[in-house]
Amino acid sequence: MKIALHWQILIALALAVVAGSLTGTDGALFGIRFYDVYGFFGTLFLNALKMLIVPLIMASIVSGMANIGGGDNFGRMGVKTLIYYASTSLIAILIGLAMVNLVQPGIIDGEPAKDRIGLAAETQEVTAKVEGRGAGDVAEVFLRMVPPNIVSAAAEGQMLGLIFFSLLFGYYITRIQSPQRETQVNFWQGVFDVMMGITDLIMRFAPFGVFALVAKVVASTGLEAITPLLSFFFTVLVALLLHMFVSMPLILRFVAGVNPIRHYRAVAPALLTAFSTASSSATLPVTMECLEKNAGVSNRTTSFVLPLGATVNMDGTALYECVAALFIAQAYGVDLGVAEQFTVVFIALLTSIGVAGIPAASLVAIVIILAAFGLPAEAIGLILAVDRILDMCRTAVNVFSDSCGAVTIAKLEGEKGVLAAEPALSRS
Ligand code: ASP
Repeated sequence: MKIALHWQILIALALAVVAGSLTGTDGALFGIRFYDVYGFFGTLFLNALKMLIVPLIMASIVSGMANIGGGDNFGRMGVKTLIYYASTSLIAILIGLAMVNLVQPGIIDGEPAKDRIGLAAETQEVTAKVEGRGAGDVAEVFLRMVPPNIVSAAAEGQMLGLIFFSLLFGYYITRIQSPQRETQVNFWQGVFDVMMGITDLIMRFAPFGVFALVAKVVASTGLEAITPLLSFFFTVLVALLLHMFVSMPLILRFVAGVNPIRHYRAVAPALLTAFSTASSSATLPVTMECLEKNAGVSNRTTSFVLPLGATVNMDGTALYECVAALFIAQAYGVDLGVAEQFTVVFIALLTSIGVAGIPAASLVAIVIILAAFGLPAEAIGLILAVDRILDMCRTAVNVFSDSCGAVTIAKLEGEKGVLAAEPALSRS
């Protein structure tokens, strides 16, 4: 009997929690630490996924653009996509805003909680890292959209630049003469198909990869670390859950007109991969596969909407940025009025577009928001203890929103057969 892939991954996840807490960081067998073994296999899986990203993004956007055909079609789909991305991110941020004002996790017994929580020890390290990334302000995030050197942008993982270049490249393919046009279209379609083939192979190892990644996190993050931040942790978690299980299904049902339960089932492997890797970019190959094979969305739509979404559309991240920045302000005793809170909403929306789909990318954006209110970068130390676990959760929400975007745009474009049947999830 074949067990569906998402069940295999879920079982791996549960086993990882048990194994990680049993072995901790020090457990060893024959002198080999389990922790190192988790690290080795986790990195191997992550590397394999990441290896696909640059050719996949380039090939899918270029061939997507060429398929859409430039001109009016592109304009129409592009506008729908951008409206979808901006509005779902805004809904997510507003849920976060409401929750953080309701719960006030940064205030304990009427007092700012800064001293009770304490800054994490590795704060300085993180501050240095965040500053080293040179994302000093919002403008700089957008300057990276037009990279001076496309090869180094790709090498440094600056996907926004790669996406922008690929959009132009694909658009101009539609403007050149035959037979060069057909040669280009066929070539990029071929690269794309090959990447999807390799994704298929890598996903067979997903249960092992997920086991290793999650066991490592569980082994190194003790539950004690979370205790002082419990109220912040749950504020973020509940807000994320509300977005994922209330607002997004409403969009699926009433805008896209599809059955949300079918959608969850179709994209479950992508959600679990996002949760385990904490990287939307690394998850992109899996997201594309789920939507094409399980949800029946056309390649024309997925190849445009999903790579763009993995970088630009981050609902979970935007929500987290807003809650984290306001939590830190509360904990530092800084009272932010309505106008200031809406500034936070605005910066969270903009920076969530600009930050990369990699683990802990939000921290850079949160520092930008804090700076806008004169709060020091090291204030980020308040939330570090829970950042990784929340990163896993928000990345799953990021990927979920991308996947809903693909389905919604496909339906608005009049595609038939989207989520029409039960997904064929099992594979050998
Ligand atoms: N890890 C997130 C992602 O890849 C980004 C973040 O919020 O840090 O989607």
